[in-house]
Amino acid sequence: MTTTRFAPSPTGYIHVGNLRTALMNYLIARKAGGTFILRIDDTDPERSKEEYVDAIKRDLEWLGLHWDKVERQSERLDRYAEAADKLREMGRFYEAFETPTELDLKRKKQLNMGKPPVYDRAALNLSDAEKDALRAERGNGVWRFKLDHERIEWTDGILGDISIDAASVSDPVLIRGDGQVLYTIASVVDDTEMGVTDVVRGSDHVTNTATQIQIIEALGGQCPRFAHHSLLTGPQGEALSKRLGTLALRDLREQGLQPMALLSLMARLGSSDPVELRSDMAELIEGFDVNRFGAAPTKFDVQDLFPLTAKHLQSLPLTDVADAVEDAGVPADLAEPFWAMARENITTLADLKGWWELCRDGAEPLIADEDREFIAEAVALLPDGPFDGETWGTWTKAVKEATGRKGKGLFMPLRKALTGMERGPEMAALLPLLQVIRARG
Ligand code: GLU
Repeated sequence: MTTTRFAPSPTGYIHVGNLRTALMNYLIARKAGGTFILRIDDTDPERSKEEYVDAIKRDLEWLGLHWDKVERQSERLDRYAEAADKLREMGRFYEAFETPTELDLKRKKQLNMGKPPVYDRAALNLSDAEKDALRAERGNGVWRFKLDHERIEWTDGILGDISIDAASVSDPVLIRGDGQVLYTIASVVDDTEMGVTDVVRGSDHVTNTATQIQIIEALGGQCPRFAHHSLLTGPQGEALSKRLGTLALRDLREQGLQPMALLSLMARLGSSDPVELRSDMAELIEGFDVNRFGAAPTKFDVQDLFPLTAKHLQSLPLTDVADAVEDAGVPADLAEPFWAMARENITTLADLKGWWELCRDGAEPLIADEDREFIAEAVALLPDGPFDGETWGTWTKAVKEATGRKGKGLFMPLRKALTGMERGPEMAALLPLLQVIRARG
C-alpha cells in the first residue's frame, strides 16, 4: 500500500517550501488511497519545540492536509539504537574523533589540492589503544557509516536517472559524540519500519538519499521510490532561502490568503500543468502527477496568491464566509446582499470591513465643480425608499431624462459622489446597502 510522509523538524514555522513537500506527499498518498504520515523529526532536543509541533499541525489543518498518523522520532530512539548496533556488528559503523576544526582543515587542504572535500577515513586506521586515548581526551567520538565505494543509482521521480559515486561523498555521521541520533539514520529506520513507499523531498536531500539507500540496503530494508523537487526561488530567480522566514504559512494565513489559493498554486507550480484555481482538494488529487514536475528551480511569487485568493472568494456562497461578513460588522439581514455586492471587489476577506464602512458611514463625496449642479439635480430625483436592485436603474433613467447626460458622464459623477471612488462595486447592488440613503427611504 502506498505510504508517504511529511517529516518536518519542529525547529521553526513551516513555509511555502515545506508546503510543497507536504502537499506532494499528501497528494500521492490520497491519489493511491494510501496512508499519509505526519512524522515529527524531533531528535534534536535543544532545537525542537512543542510550540512548533502545534504550529505545524495547525498549518496543515488549515490547509486541509489531514494526516492518518503522527509519529515522533523522539519516541523511537530505541529503534535507532538497535539499527546502530546492527550496523556496528556488520562492520559498517566506525567511531571518529576529529574535532570540527580538524575536519575543516582537512577540507581546506583537499580543496587546495583540487580534490573533493571528502572525509579521509583516517579513523579507520586507529588502533583500539589510540581510540581509548582519544576517548579519554575528547570524550566519545561520532559514529560514521562506512559507505561502499560504488555508484549509487536510482530513478528519481522528478530528476530521472541519478548515479552518484559513493567515493565522492563523506561517510555520513549518524550519531553524534553526545549520543544524539541524527536525521539520516532515524529517517532510514522510520521509512523502512513504517513501510514508506514514496519519498518526495527537496533536491537539497539528493546526497542524503544516496547515503540513505546504502544504509537501507545494509539494514535489509526496502528502498522507497524517491523524487526530489527543485528548490523555490524568488520571482527573479533569486535564492529564496533567506526570505522563506517571511513566507511562513501562518503569516500567509494572517495576510488573508486562502488555503485553496495556496494549494492550487503549490500543487502545480513547476510542473507541466497550468496553475489555475481549483475548486477543491479532489480536483487537485485527481490531476496530480509527481513525474510532471521539472528539475529546474521553480520561481515563486507570493503576489500570485492574491488573485487566486480573490477568485476563490468570488466563488463562495455566503454560508462559507458568514463569520467574516459578521465580523466586518454587517447586520444579519443585510449579509446576503452585502456579500453579493462585495465579493467581486475584495482580494481577501479583510477587505470586507472597508466596504461595510462605506455602506454604513458613506464616503466623502468626490464632486467636480462642473458636476455640482448635476449632482444636486440628481439628488432631488432620488426616489423614495425602500431601495432594491432596480432603484439604480430607475433613478439614473430619470436623471438622464432630466439632465440629458448619458454614459460615463451620467454614471461616473454619481458613483464618485456616492462612494468617493472612481471604481468599485456594481452601483445597482451597492445603492440599496447605503445606510444614509436607506434611512431616507
Ligand atoms: N526533517 C527533514 C527535513 O525537514 C526531513 C527530510 C526528509 O523528508 O527525509 O529536511
